[in-house]
Amino acid sequence: MCGVGAYGPPVCTCANCQTTWRRLQQLNPYTMWSPPAETRLPNIERNKMARRIKIYEGKAKILYEGPEPGTIVQYFKDDATAFNAEKMEVIDGKGVLNNRLSEFFMTGLNNIGVPTHFLKRLNMREQLVRACEIIPLEIIVRNYAAGTICTRLGLEEGAALPRPIVEYCYKDDALGDPLVSEEHIAAFGWASQQDMDDVLSLALRVNDFMSGVMMAVGIRLVDFKIEIGRVYDGDFQRLVVADEISPDSCRLWDIETGRKLDKDVFRRDLGNLTDAYTEVARRLGVMPKNAAPMGKPTLIN
Ligand code: 5GP
Repeated sequence: MCGVGAYGPPVCTCANCQTTWRRLQQLNPYTMWSPPAETRLPNIERNKMARRIKIYEGKAKILYEGPEPGTIVQYFKDDATAFNAEKMEVIDGKGVLNNRLSEFFMTGLNNIGVPTHFLKRLNMREQLVRACEIIPLEIIVRNYAAGTICTRLGLEEGAALPRPIVEYCYKDDALGDPLVSEEHIAAFGWASQQDMDDVLSLALRVNDFMSGVMMAVGIRLVDFKIEIGRVYDGDFQRLVVADEISPDSCRLWDIETGRKLDKDVFRRDLGNLTDAYTEVARRLGVMPKNAAPMGKPTLIN
């Protein structure tokens, strides 16, 4: 019971270290550590095609070890899931669109001094990001009532909220990402009070930026979810916006018609998801006009 695994890779093979490290890996998929050898961690797969090491596979993305220490390659899949993965489908081109849109939003945030983990886009489906330690919270900002807040508080969908409302959910798929209070966050040590002050400030700055950008192209930012991670510069840590910002993690409604241009199209079977995301990309000038989002390559015999 030495506890070494709580602070780094399992140099020790005792059950305590191995269990603690496995738990940390689950909580922090972007963790700073680069795996030294497959034999050390059973859940690491060597991807022979890409000759690189897969660190984590989530519902919409795969993370690979990056080319430099402290970097990660984030691959956007075409898989769409909803209702805690009860509904699943592969949607051709979704990964390409989300990669481009997330690049667009993260670059814009970096440019106005809101730090993000984004470094550069590598190709159609991949981007290079800074490795960071993800705070195990989904940070949700709402401007209009939609989704779970309507069910929870009996609000009418589309009602304007008196001011942006920030909510926190504990990232745990098995529990269905439950809503938690700052009291839970402090008591369970998921983030310090200083972290939470910075998280709130980052979330509201992202909201101002995103609302403005979307408003300029006739789209209402109803709500969105972000994740925030810690990066370490020597002894200092700072918080950065991490994961992705895309129509998968936002609610976006056309201001004039109310047409939904986000993942609710998939959740509620409202039409073609790629068409909706392409419309967002087209309005933002992210994809050239008439460009069909590229799906997976097909084999020709
Ligand atoms: P709600 O709590 O109403 O389901 O979601 C609020 C906002 O956060 C929506 O924009 C929704 O897309 C986003 N969101 C909530 N949970 C998740 C999640 O687990 N993954 C993604 N990509 N977005 C989420």
